[in-house]
Amino acid sequence: MPRPSVCVYCGARAGTRPSYTAAAQATGAMLAARGWRLVYGAGDVGLMGEVARAAMAAGGQCFGVIPAHLYNREVGKRDLSTFIITEDMHERKKVMYMNSGAIVVLPGGAGSLDELFEVLTWRQLGLHAKPILLLDTEGYWQPLMALLRHLVAEGFADASLLDYVELLPDVAALESRLATAFG
Ligand code: AMP
Repeated sequence: MPRPSVCVYCGARAGTRPSYTAAAQATGAMLAARGWRLVYGAGDVGLMGEVARAAMAAGGQCFGVIPAHLYNREVGKRDLSTFIITEDMHERKKVMYMNSGAIVVLPGGAGSLDELFEVLTWRQLGLHAKPILLLDTEGYWQPLMALLRHLVAEGFADASLLDYVELLPDVAALESRLATAFG
C-alpha cells in the first residue's frame, strides 16, 4: 500500500441535511491534509462526489473504483489520482477493501449499508481487523446501532459484534481515531 489508505462508503445522494454535505467535504479535506489516500466508489454524485472533490482540491490522493455499468449513472470521476473500472459490484467492493487499511462510513443509503455489512460480517468471521468507523453526523447511525443491539439481545449475534463498529461524532474524532490506527 503506497500510503495509509481509507476506504469511504457514503451516499450517491446528498441526503436532506446540509450537514451531511459539510461532513463529507470535511472528511475529504482531512484525508488530504493528513496525506491519507481516499479509496472510494469513483462517483461524482452525492456525498461520494463531495468527499472526492474536497480531497482533490486539497491536493490529496484519490483512488476511485467503479463498475462499467455505473459509469454513466454515477458520473465516473476520471480526474482522480487512480481510476479503475471493474466488471461488477463484487469486484468493485473487493478492490476498494483490498486497497484500504481502514473503513469509514458516512451517511448513505442501501448501497452504503451493503458495503458496511460486507466488511462487518467479514470482521465477525475474523477475516480482517480493519477498523470500521461510522461518522455519526446528526446521529445518522443511531437506528443502525439500535438494530445491531437488537440482533445481540435476541440471540442472533455475539455481543462482540458491537465492538466491531465504532461511532465517531465528528470529523475531528474520526481523524484522531484514524491517526491511532495508522500509528
Ligand atoms: P447508496 O448508499 O445507496 O447511495 O450507494 C452508495 C454507493 O454504493 C453507490 O456507489 C452504489 O453504486 C454502491 N452500491 C450499491 N449497491 C452495491 C453493491 N451491492 N455492491 C457494491 N456497491 C454497491
